[in-house]
Amino acid sequence: MRLIADLHIHSRFSRATSPQMDLETLTRWAKIKGIGLLGTGDFTHPQWLKELKDGLVADGNGLFRYGGVRFMLTSEISLIWKQDGKVRKVHILVLAPSFAAVERIDRDLSLIGNLSSDGRPILGISAQHLAEVVWNAEESAEIIPAHVWTPWFSVFGSRSGFDSLEECFGKYTHRIFAIETGLSSDPPMNWRLSMLDHLTLISNSDAHSASKLGREATLFDLPDPSYGSVIEAMKTSDPARFLGTIEFYPQEGKYHYDGHRKCGTVLSPREAMKLNNICPVCGKPLTVGVLHRVVDLADRQDDGAAIVRPPYHSLVPLEEIISQALGVGVKTKTVSRQYARMIEKFGDEFRILLDLPPEEMEGYVPGRILHGITHVRSGNVQITPGYDGVYGKVHVPLDGDQ
Ligand SMILES: [Zn+2]
Ligand SMILES: [Zn+2]
Repeated sequence: MRLIADLHIHSRFSRATSPQMDLETLTRWAKIKGIGLLGTGDFTHPQWLKELKDGLVADGNGLFRYGGVRFMLTSEISLIWKQDGKVRKVHILVLAPSFAAVERIDRDLSLIGNLSSDGRPILGISAQHLAEVVWNAEESAEIIPAHVWTPWFSVFGSRSGFDSLEECFGKYTHRIFAIETGLSSDPPMNWRLSMLDHLTLISNSDAHSASKLGREATLFDLPDPSYGSVIEAMKTSDPARFLGTIEFYPQEGKYHYDGHRKCGTVLSPREAMKLNNICPVCGKPLTVGVLHRVVDLADRQDDGAAIVRPPYHSLVPLEEIISQALGVGVKTKTVSRQYARMIEKFGDEFRILLDLPPEEMEGYVPGRILHGITHVRSGNVQITPGYDGVYGKVHVPLDGDQ
């Protein structure tokens, strides 16, 4: 059976997150979205860890449950260190199979930095040092570089990253089997780099509020999900068990194009290169976005299409489709009422966005919303790219009757 997983989220103990990010709310929203396996996030935070230990019931196979939703122990760690004369800032996802393992990891990391000030702790050690600590504490823990293309905090980021995984992970590189593509890049962009061919591309929401869960996700087909079988499916990318990812349109991400938010400058990589990456308004260097960085590091003109790749689905959140179809704001009561009505009738959001034949929704869902869903499924949308921290916008074509 298909299992939709979102392994990178944050609790309310992370900065700039919703105060509602507790197990109860996370579980409720996982069900609304259709997510069967959720990362706990923030296992390095003492208070969140206590809540997890009190609330989660062990499945006995490295996964846990709360209210019918499976959980995996995960955390994101922010590393800042100097290497080869440059300040490096890289976010890394850590997955662990047991509370005992988490306690060993947390114990060793707490000797390095403060774990209680932020659910996503900032540590002044290198990625290799982190790898050493994690794998000394727990051999079967795993490390996945997070949102690998974001300019400021990622392994390939234009501002403080590297040009290859080897530079970042050194002798541990061979243990890295997957990377998180992040909201601003999709699989075809990553396929342009042959150095990534052997890695599995995964997607997660990095949600800071519960309604954003699953905005990106990873799909599995596992008869008996366990920590080991989820990891193994990612490691092997076996098409019977690893079913690919659910993606944002990458242009929607906050760092797709190049630009300056304050100056209102938005440029494609080609336009930015013509200007030597200098902002024509203020004369300072542009924030170079994800697409530009991919173009810089790519060794293929195309996406290497001859290679067989796992599938991916580009989606637009249902509330966004409803909002555009009805011509009202996404945060309005009209949208949340219509959304709740559809979830109640059809079960969950991914079923509505991915699976349900339109005929089954006809008569119950306004025609314009139904057309919106069909357009999104076939990729028929127009997109204004995001840049320098500003989200892009997807425009779903409007047709059909009320
Ligand atoms: Zn991050
Ligand atoms: Zn500027």
